[in-house]
Formats: sequence, structure tokens, C-alpha cells
Amino acid sequence: MNPDTHHDEDLVEGVRRFVERDILGKVQALEASDTYPNHLIGSLAELGLFGAAVPPAYGGLGVNIPTYARIMEELAYGWTALNCYLNSHFSASSMLARYGTDQQKERFLPRMATGELRVAIALTEPNGGSDLQAIRTRATRGPDGQWQLNGSKIFITNGGSSGAVIVLTRTGEGKKGFSLFMLEKGLPGFSVGGRAKTMAHRHVDVTELNFDTVVLSDAELIGGVPGEGLQQMLDAIETGRIAMGATAVGLARSALRSAIDYAAARQSFGQVIGQHQAIQGLLADMGAKTLAARTLVQEAAAVKARGGRADMVAGMAKLFAGEVCAEVALNCVRIHGGSGYVSDFPAERYYREAPYFVLVEGSNEIQKTIIARRLLAGDGQAIGL
Ligand SMILES: Cc1cc2nc3c(=O)[nH]c(=O)nc-3n(C[C@H](O)[C@H](O)[C@H](O)COP(=O)(O)OP(=O)(O)OC[C@H]3O[C@@H](n4cnc5c(N)ncnc54)[C@H](O)[C@@H]3O)c2cc1C
Repeated sequence: MNPDTHHDEDLVEGVRRFVERDILGKVQALEASDTYPNHLIGSLAELGLFGAAVPPAYGGLGVNIPTYARIMEELAYGWTALNCYLNSHFSASSMLARYGTDQQKERFLPRMATGELRVAIALTEPNGGSDLQAIRTRATRGPDGQWQLNGSKIFITNGGSSGAVIVLTRTGEGKKGFSLFMLEKGLPGFSVGGRAKTMAHRHVDVTELNFDTVVLSDAELIGGVPGEGLQQMLDAIETGRIAMGATAVGLARSALRSAIDYAAARQSFGQVIGQHQAIQGLLADMGAKTLAARTLVQEAAAVKARGGRADMVAGMAKLFAGEVCAEVALNCVRIHGGSGYVSDFPAERYYREAPYFVLVEGSNEIQKTIIARRLLAGDGQAIGL
């Protein structure tokens, strides 16, 4: 085992222990309390997870993508809300580490590594979710060389609680007409708007963001050159989709565990329900599909870690794991009978959390479009299909 592998194993093990000690057994109460779990944000920081994508030179752990996927799975096995605090921050830090100027790296990454500066990512707008090319937020350069940013975003995870946001904006026309800006809170004209009332993770702030002639310089433009935003963002989104797949696997594992425990305890017609063939069929499918989803997520993570384009396999991981998660969560409710429909048991929570993985980080319909397009272009051969 090389030292890196050893370090990664320790990290995953540390996350597993944290979940066992601080989350499992407490998660139902945590969710019911509907309060922002500051102490858990502190625990994630102590584990170094806000620095997971930050290179060691800037104080982070610089973990590889397969390890990151395993961390996300373990956290989600405890509570998928934890992943909501980390995922955009991880994408933002990997984006800055890869594309930021030296000044931007020095300015932001050390604070991001400790969690002192938490960063959200703002792409979606009222008229552009799946269709990001339709966004209207625009930065225009004035005669003094400064940028003026105007527009608004919706559905931004950690939009209120983060200290900074990476914003996708129009700076021109066509595919080279997008740029990403890093905006710290407190800039004149930058405000947080209304908060969405979500189906699950209600304490995670998902908000609107408004930009009313926010003045920015090239120092806030990621990479310092306009027109690179779409490509920078698509690279980060591949990692985000793998992480979303890993999170879905963690939730599916949790739902499977609850279903097994319930099937081993609940009696009907003189035996535990786990002895009924119909229930066994459900459990068998749930187990096989969850393991298949994890294997696909790890394959996607390995492809991404090797470098080069990974949108097809990242899309496959997100699509398959998201759909498996939704199916496993529904079957967990089914196995719990009426108890699956009430909040005394976690099955009801899994069922509310699962659709997130079908919709967010690019809907699963969009993943299908990407996968099919790449297969038709012959990319399947590169991964042996
Ligand atoms: C809880 C939550 C958190 C979020 N966090 C963030 C965040 O942090 N940052 C951020 O930028 N965004 C965030 N989003 C937004 C999210 O990424 C979008 O909601 C998602 O991409 C879908 O976009 P939309 O809502 O505009 O749906 P639409 O694009 O309007 O899609 C509606 C339906 O049409 C389908 N559809 C659309 N176009 C096509 C097509 N070409 N082919 C086939 N089907 C299609 C979709 O699959 C979907 O079923 C979040 C959303 C939620 C609910």
C-alpha cells in the first residue's frame, strides 16, 4: 500500500467513525429539529473535508476523485444533508485549484481548506436550469475595465450560509460567451433573496441570489480571462455528478439497511416478513442494484481521475445511482407497510430525500441526452463498451 492510499483509507475510516458516532441514531432527531446543525459543520471542518479538493500546498487534503466518492457515500449513509454542505464547496475548490490564477488560489484556497470560507455555486436561473445557455445574468466591462454584474439566480444550495459564490454569467455570445466570477459576500449590490421550502433537508438554505450592478475586476474572474466559464464549469460538473451518484448510493445503502432490519423483525402470518418470497424479491433487487450503482460510481470516479473527458460515464453514474436510490427508497417504504409512511421510521425521510438525485446536478433526462450523444460519437469504446 503506498502512503497516499494509506492516507485515503484513514480518511474514509475517519468519516465512517464520525457517521457512526455522531449521525446514526441521531439523524431522525436532527432532521425533526429543523435547525441548522452548526456543530456538524464544525465536525466536517475538523475532519478536513472542506479542504478535500484543495491541494496540500494550500492547506488541503487534495484527495483523489475515487476517495472523494467514497467519503460522499459514507456521509450519505448517515445523512445526505451533510453532502449538501460539501458538494458545491468541493466543486468550487477543484475549479479554483485547476483554473484559478495564482493570486486567486492564494486568496481563496487556504480559507476554503479550513471551512472558514464556504463557497456555493450559482448556475440556475428562473429561465435556465437544464438549459444553461439560456441564462441572462450578465457581466459587462465598462470603459474603466471593471465588470458590472446584473441578474439573479434561484435554487442555490448554501446561498445564504456560504461566504462566497461562484457565479456563471454571460460575458459575450455563443459557447465562449460565459465566464465564472467568485463573489464574496458583502459586495455592494450582491444580496440573498427568498429561501425555497424544500421537500427534504429543510434546514439547508436553498436561496435566490440577486446581483444589482455588482462591480467586479479581473481578480474575481476565474482564470482571469473571460469566455472560459462553460468549459471550467462542465469539468467541475463531472465531479459533481459522480459525487451525486455516490451520495445516492449512500442513501440507498441506508434504506436497504432499514428495510433488512424491519423485514427481520416484523411478523405477519406467523413468520417474519423477511421470510415471505415477495419481500425477499424486493430485498434481493435492492441489494444487487445498490452494489451495481456503487461499482458504476467508482468506475466513473476512476475514469475522471485518469483525466480527460468523463461526461458520459459521470452521467451514467449519476443517472443509474439516482434511479436506483429512488427505487430502493420506495421499496423501503413498501417493506415498512404503514410504518413507512410516518416519520417515526426513517423510511419516510429516505423517500423524501431520494428525488433530489433524479433532479439536481443535471436532471436524469439530461444525463440520458449526454450519454446517448457520446455513445453515438463512439466514446463508449474508450471504456470497453
Ligand atoms: C434542492 C435543490 C438544490 C439545488 N441547488 C443548486 C445549486 O446549488 N446551484 C445551482 O446552480 N442549481 C441548483 N439547483 C437547480 C437544479 O440544478 C435544477 O433545478 C435542475 O438542473 C433542473 O433545472 P430546472 O429546475 O430548471 O428544470 P427544467 O430545466 O425546467 O426541466 C424540467 C423537466 O424537463 C426536463 N427537460 C428539460 N430539458 C430537457 C431536454 N432537453 N430533454 C429532455 N428533458 C428535458 C427535465 O429533465 C425536467 O424533467 C438546485 C435545485 C434544487 C431543487
